[in-house]
Amino acid sequence: MFVSMIDSMKIAREKGYCVPAISAVDECSLRAVIGAAEKKRSPVILLVMYEDNPDLQYYGRMVQDFAVRATVPVSVVLDHGAEYEHAIAAIRAGFTDIMVDRSSLSYEENVAQVKELVKIAHAVNVGVEAELGHVGFGGDLSQNVFTVPEEAVSFVQETGVDALAVAIGTSHGQYQGVHQLQFELLKELREAVPVPLVLHGGSGTGDDNLRKACQMGICKLNIAYEVYRGALGAVTSEEFKNIPGAEYGMYAFMAEGIEKVAMHTMDICGSTGKV
Ligand SMILES: [Zn+2]
Repeated sequence: MFVSMIDSMKIAREKGYCVPAISAVDECSLRAVIGAAEKKRSPVILLVMYEDNPDLQYYGRMVQDFAVRATVPVSVVLDHGAEYEHAIAAIRAGFTDIMVDRSSLSYEENVAQVKELVKIAHAVNVGVEAELGHVGFGGDLSQNVFTVPEEAVSFVQETGVDALAVAIGTSHGQYQGVHQLQFELLKELREAVPVPLVLHGGSGTGDDNLRKACQMGICKLNIAYEVYRGALGAVTSEEFKNIPGAEYGMYAFMAEGIEKVAMHTMDICGSTGKV
């Protein structure tokens, strides 16, 4: 089933779970992540950034091919989508959704640029996620700007966006220690904002924190760094190195590492068994 992530998120919001959004950027990771979703009977969103795979046209075709054969709902979103041209390319490539991340710009500029792409995307039934506040990178919490609930409400109204990524204390990539999530802020956002909420920078946030965030109204949880770590860990493990001719099994081991992270994320999201 090839569906917009917005449809999956709306069902999740209603039923009180979260849809896992897992980095899948080529055939190896794509097969692993969809395989995990089928084993777990979970909906899934594939995350791909332009930088991960600039050949959006071909990747879009490949995803469609796999997604229509899948027995669980599969969506694909252009993650972060910093450039206007990349957003258009993703729409043209058949992506079900785009993220338009203008969170490092001023509120007014963020609204203006997101609004323009919402108009284009909605004309061809593509969903749009934007970000308000800012989720920083690499554990540098000084980059973070928490989302303000009143601003979030007007942002959604002004842009017509379908889903909103919020900054409540996570950060992208490798992180030292465990994130301190602002659950009180999440509660306020969940009550005030009419569209499903998204959490970026889930890797390294701690299972208990993430489980709680999903239960409290996060409807899409982005996991990327952990996926890469899972793949790398699988092919640098002693178990792998000790297999004679292990090199020939490299892709299979990587896929297994990715699948493990994806399945674990589905359990945390509470999406296991929901299809
Ligand atoms: Zn992100």
